[in-house]
Amino acid sequence: MPKAVIVGGGIGGLATAIAFTRQGWEVEVLERSARITEVGAGISLWSNALQALDELGLGDEIRGRAREESSAGIRNSKGRWLSRTDIEAVRARYGSPIMMHRADFLEILRAAVPEYAVRTGISVSGVQADDIVAHSAGTSAGDLVVGADGVRSVVRRAVCGEIEPRYSGYTAWRVVVAPTEPVGDMGESWGRGERFGYGTLPDGRVYCFATADMAAGTAGGGLSEMRARFGSWHDPIPALLSAADDTAILKHDLYDLPPLKTYATGRIALIGDAAHAMTPNLGQGACQALEDAVTLARVAAEDGDLARYDAQRRPRTQMIVKRSRVIGAVGQLSSPLAVLARNALLRLTPPSVQLKSLAPVLDWEG
Ligand SMILES: Cc1cc2nc3c(=O)[nH]c(=O)nc-3n(C[C@H](O)[C@H](O)[C@H](O)COP(=O)(O)OP(=O)(O)OC[C@H]3O[C@@H](n4cnc5c(N)ncnc54)[C@H](O)[C@@H]3O)c2cc1C
Repeated sequence: MPKAVIVGGGIGGLATAIAFTRQGWEVEVLERSARITEVGAGISLWSNALQALDELGLGDEIRGRAREESSAGIRNSKGRWLSRTDIEAVRARYGSPIMMHRADFLEILRAAVPEYAVRTGISVSGVQADDIVAHSAGTSAGDLVVGADGVRSVVRRAVCGEIEPRYSGYTAWRVVVAPTEPVGDMGESWGRGERFGYGTLPDGRVYCFATADMAAGTAGGGLSEMRARFGSWHDPIPALLSAADDTAILKHDLYDLPPLKTYATGRIALIGDAAHAMTPNLGQGACQALEDAVTLARVAAEDGDLARYDAQRRPRTQMIVKRSRVIGAVGQLSSPLAVLARNALLRLTPPSVQLKSLAPVLDWEG
């Protein structure tokens, strides 16, 4: 039985392990954390991700633990709508996007990987001789090595040398809160160099996310800073911030990757953030990792030609990295004139144009 050694037990690594197992491969997942866990935040998954999850046999279970998104759009900081997504049209054309807690998502993925295949507390230092992975507990060998080890991947070095992730210029906060009143509509609000968004989770809690222009590595900036920045924005943002617990706030500077020349060399392939880390402006990072996983396992089972995997995945994912970057730059505009022009343009854009702009991202041949 052929074997894949998968470095990283995040969304991409676990999905890859499931996909290869379904193709009859043996898998070994090496994860440096002591436990397979995800951060305390929500995640939205679009129809392309659900299509990949259906291929992994998990689509219905995931849908059962998620909430269908019922509305979306962009407001200004005072609450005036700048653009409303025609969610019924999105649903009719592509299928409903869903929102769920990351911990639930990872639990479902973990449960679908054979117990013995996941080795935690193993830190990988690099790949030697194409198919030997060196790590803190010795080495592992396979017919294929998959780098699913995130934006600062060590496996990537063996594929394309040292690549420095690019700082987006803004940081992100995330927190899950239990508000006293239901909050209704989900969506984002755009200010000047700042954005705030929220979406309801299946259990009624609300996942909040926010961004602000900031130098990389700026220390501090917990709940008090979020309240100072967003506490006077439109309802229900102040109430959501009042319900937040400072110790639950996650703050991460956002990076993406410049376009790699290839996602594969010899018997090594990269997937997910290791290949194409993107800013979260399209909510597609994990969705693309799922597409990668399914595609790589299929190619491996068909003829093992990794150049085909690269050709199928690189143009598409690099296009999405670029789009996410542009949307982030527009969302983070801060000069009053530019913000005025952006908001006017958003108000003038018909929902049909918006729907059309989703097509290149959500239309996935599989
Ligand atoms: C603020 C924010 C919001 C987001 N929202 C969404 C969203 O709504 N929808 C969406 O689709 N995407 C979203 N994303 C993107 C998504 O989270 C990522 O694209 C996705 O988690 C990438 O998965 P991955 O498995 O490729 O990498 P990771 O999640 O980074 O997993 C890599 C794993 O490898 C392990 N690892 C790393 N190095 C080593 C090593 N040397 N040895 C062993 N193990 C190692 C790590 O511990 C980790 O478990 C968001 C991202 C951010 C930052």
